[in-house]
Amino acid sequence: MLGLMQDWPLLIHKVIDYAASEHPGRAVVSRLTEGPLHRTTYAALRERALKVAKRLAQDGIRAGDRVATLAWNNHRHLEAWYGIAGIGAVYHTVNPRLFPEQILYIMNHAEDRILLLDLTFLPLVEKLAPQLPTVERFVVLTDAAHMPETSLRGAVAYEDWIGEVDADFRWAEVDERAAAGLCYTSGTTGEPKGVLYSHRSNVLHAMVTMTPDAFGLTARDIVLPVVPLFHANSWSLAFAAPMAGASLVMPGPKLDGPSIYELLESERVTMTAAVPTIWFALLQHMEATGSRLNHLQRVAIGGSACPPAVIDTFESKYGIRVIHAWGMTEMSPVGSLCAIKPEVVGGGPEAVRAIKATQGCAPFSVEWKITGDDGRRLPNDGRTFGRLKVRGAAVARRYYKREDEEILDAEGFFDTGDVATLDPNGYMRITDRSKDVIKSGGEWISSIDLENLAVGHPAVAEAAVIGIPHPKWDERPLLVVVAKPGTRPDKADVLEFLRPKIAKWWMPDDMVVVDEIPHTATGKILKTELRNRFKDYRLPTA
Ligand code: ADP
Repeated sequence: MLGLMQDWPLLIHKVIDYAASEHPGRAVVSRLTEGPLHRTTYAALRERALKVAKRLAQDGIRAGDRVATLAWNNHRHLEAWYGIAGIGAVYHTVNPRLFPEQILYIMNHAEDRILLLDLTFLPLVEKLAPQLPTVERFVVLTDAAHMPETSLRGAVAYEDWIGEVDADFRWAEVDERAAAGLCYTSGTTGEPKGVLYSHRSNVLHAMVTMTPDAFGLTARDIVLPVVPLFHANSWSLAFAAPMAGASLVMPGPKLDGPSIYELLESERVTMTAAVPTIWFALLQHMEATGSRLNHLQRVAIGGSACPPAVIDTFESKYGIRVIHAWGMTEMSPVGSLCAIKPEVVGGGPEAVRAIKATQGCAPFSVEWKITGDDGRRLPNDGRTFGRLKVRGAAVARRYYKREDEEILDAEGFFDTGDVATLDPNGYMRITDRSKDVIKSGGEWISSIDLENLAVGHPAVAEAAVIGIPHPKWDERPLLVVVAKPGTRPDKADVLEFLRPKIAKWWMPDDMVVVDEIPHTATGKILKTELRNRFKDYRLPTA
């Protein structure tokens, strides 16, 4: 027997319809690529999204077609998303930090028909255009006054493009399981793989990320997603903020410490989100200038492990709550968030502090388990580590155009590629990527734990630990650090700092100071590159 409730399909356009009708005047502020700050509202943004939809329909874009964006976080990018999905087409966010060959690969793989690009990327796209045979039209996200001369065939300024139509358009009523968005994994090894979000998965995921123990969004919040729209839906904030009626502030191309600080303060931002490297820069800026943040209440940190020293600084020094989150493109992307359960509170402040460094608990709609290499479940005892596998309402089932490839186990779980522990209270702690774990004498050493501890040293700005081949132990850890400005980390001093905090056999065999640690397009330490750089390195203990 079926229930007798209305069938209200979970479509993305319902999010912007809701924000425009129930929170019409709420501000959407953007740092334009052209420079100045721009202010609009959800009501106006929806009007323009409808124009995008109408214009796309006029240009012959049909349901299921891919429309790419190569853009910063700003109102044009956001309204374009809603417009694209609103006719049943698929927004394909291209990460501009990928290598040009990767951009070509994913755009050709996606067979994008239109590309909407920010001014910043015009020179890049001019170079790539001859190798993008499927792209019929280039739309530059600017107005006629700022439209430069370009060799791109038929390029048009976005404001002219949507200016030719009105907003009299009805959203397409597609199946809620229809594709809405496409985002490729960064693909540090092998080819990038396309994760194809549906309207339903995006809406459900946003509803989950809004909840109090997740990002806890309300209509009183002012949200600044530093995390880009091209980084897995800006961790759902592009949907969750309008769904909550929260105001949005988007930073455009300026992601350095001083610019982010200025925007957080001047726009009275209450909640923000980004990868750790952004927060390293912000904290350095605040330390150097002796400034404080007077409005910010919460900062979500994820994408890489957040060192406890960063969590401590935000919370103890500045009174800003850290939400440590973990996830991946294949999970839309939020997979866990660190909220404090009553079981932990009983343990006192030190227990709470220790828990805060974990990647947190599963929100509703995420199920997980850890298994051994044989696929058998391992105990949730907080000590045993295994492969972390997940199942849920916003987890990938297949990759785009690789539909014949099975990516789930017999129970329908997806292998995240992470190694983790799960404790009896449901807290998950990532110890490593399975590819990065250091195997010493048959035991595993967590590179993430060592990195987290090393950045607690006052002279260390960033740390990476990699395994170096060793004749006796297979592999031993090498600690690579970047110095804080004006300091010079001393090997003996840093290792002495680690000694009381780790098991004896975890102690790195050596430390080197480098100018810069390489990062992936989404801000993670690029371990493959680092291992390559140190491939001929001989440990003093070897
Ligand atoms: P992204 O788009 O963030 O690069 P990926 O899917 O490429 O997404 O990366 C996901 C991976 O990032 C996870 O599998 C995990 O290894 C790492 N990661 C994300 N958040 C955290 C975190 N809080 N702590 C440790 N690792 C994390």
